[in-house]
Amino acid sequence: MRNIPKLAIIVPCYNEDQVLGETIKRLSETLENLIDKKKIKSDSFVLYVDDGSEDDTWSIIKSSSATNLSTKGIKLSKNEGHQNALLAGIEYVEGKCDCLISIDADLQQDEKSMIHFTDSYVNGCDVVLGVRNDRMCDSFFKRATALGFYKLMNLMGVDIIKNHADYRLLSSKAIRMLLSFKEVNLFLRGLVLLIGLKTEYIYFDVKDRYAGKSKYTLKKMFTFAWDGITSFSVVPLRLITLIGFIVFFLLA
Ligand code: UDP
Ligand code: MG
Repeated sequence: MRNIPKLAIIVPCYNEDQVLGETIKRLSETLENLIDKKKIKSDSFVLYVDDGSEDDTWSIIKSSSATNLSTKGIKLSKNEGHQNALLAGIEYVEGKCDCLISIDADLQQDEKSMIHFTDSYVNGCDVVLGVRNDRMCDSFFKRATALGFYKLMNLMGVDIIKNHADYRLLSSKAIRMLLSFKEVNLFLRGLVLLIGLKTEYIYFDVKDRYAGKSKYTLKKMFTFAWDGITSFSVVPLRLITLIGFIVFFLLA
């Protein structure tokens, strides 16, 4: 059994001013509840990473961190994308906590499940992955693109956990190992499996987005899938080599 951890919750935010007030309220309550139940240390905190928002996201984070000691914020100079915002958060909290939990800003992922994440950590787990029970509340478009994404990843031989997004706990050891990769085109879902530490799954019910619209445009989804494939699969390289040989012999 480990000691109770100092927890850092990381929340990437891009143009989330419609939900952020409620998110800050709920995550502050969650943190206090975990502290009261002696599940985490009292100096635990929530870090909001503003991913170059153009709306009032940053001013909401700033005013909340001015009045609440357990709320912190960093702002990226421009929109770098969800995975890079997460990485900036992970780099910021390294050495400042015993473990982190990353969660989306839109309250789709059940923040009440965090208590199971920290229990797993205390029982010796270094990586805890939140897995959604079903996709029933997603739009047809979202379900179809998600299905296509998992099929494509499977075809390319990329190892990922179905229905696990970026709701996960990482111990300080997992954080150090993850940051030692020095990746730039990030695909965290693949990287966390590569580090090979003790991993557990927590299943949770997914909810509708509390407010606002999805910040994952089709272009961002393609970039995300492309990074996953080019970072974790040799299939594109083999295909190009094969095409090279075919063209060579046809022209010879
Ligand atoms: N996000 C981000 N940068 C981006 C796009 C999204 O930081 O360029 C954040 C967003 O604010 C949210 C999380 O990533 O906290 C997941 O995005 P969203 O909920 O819109 O994705 P979906 O649930 O529709 O896949
Ligand atoms: Mg969402």
